[in-house]
Amino acid sequence: MLRIENLTAEVEGKPILKGVTLEIPDGEVHAIMGPNGAGKSTLSYALSGREGYEITGGSVLLNGQDLLEMEPEERAAAGLFLAFQYPVELPGVGNANFLRTALNAIRRTRGEAEVDAMQFLKLARARMKELSMPEDMLKRGVNVGFSGGEKKRNEILQMALLQPKIAILDETDSGLDIDALKIVADGVNAMRGPAFSALVITHYQRLLNHIVPDRVHVLADGRIVASGGPELAQRLEAEGYAGVLEEAA
Ligand code: ADP
Ligand code: MG
Ligand code: MG
Repeated sequence: MLRIENLTAEVEGKPILKGVTLEIPDGEVHAIMGPNGAGKSTLSYALSGREGYEITGGSVLLNGQDLLEMEPEERAAAGLFLAFQYPVELPGVGNANFLRTALNAIRRTRGEAEVDAMQFLKLARARMKELSMPEDMLKRGVNVGFSGGEKKRNEILQMALLQPKIAILDETDSGLDIDALKIVADGVNAMRGPAFSALVITHYQRLLNHIVPDRVHVLADGRIVASGGPELAQRLEAEGYAGVLEEAA
């Protein structure tokens, strides 16, 4: 389980997270919604250990291990996966090599044997079949010339290969189309089970029609101000944030 307690963080000396407390038990999918600038992306970067996001207080435990003491690659090896809002393009780097490098980095940190190119292909093909992905995606440069939907597929493939304990998906506010949304939702739903949990960060209720969360939290001005079941997301969709924020104040 992921246990975040009273987490505070700054970006460029400016306090952004002002005491976030949140528990995600194993097997559960939680959603974080909230107005623009609330600190949703800052929370995901703070959890992943991204440079420039300075933790000023609080604690984060993943299955009892102190996440904040770990380097970003150790966090990944411990089972944390962060899907990027804006995936990088790496011309000249084959996607298969890229994904295998990511997998082996985790296996090395865990003290497990690395997988060679043949073993990786076998593994990747099996996962791609489950996710109905075309195999030629492995041959292309990382994200180069990928459509929005293909980038999402690649991200989901990466998640399926790395088998994280907890995945954080921070979806861009500027809109996934319905197809990309379905890809993300199908990928997350396929992984749901007692050993997998997810934190889905989204501006839109739409995504939560496809990934029905166990809990929904509203982040505003760096704090969780309301929590509820999936009906909270539906209320926000119908009414906007004003009512919920007023009640919290
Ligand atoms: P959300 O994802 O909820 O829209 P963000 O976490 O992106 O919110 O941003 C929260 C606040 O932190 C905003 O005021 C934003 O301007 C600021 N912020 C986030 N990242 C940076 C950064 N790299 N440099 C400066 N300010 C940042
Ligand atoms: Mg934003
Ligand atoms: Mg954001």
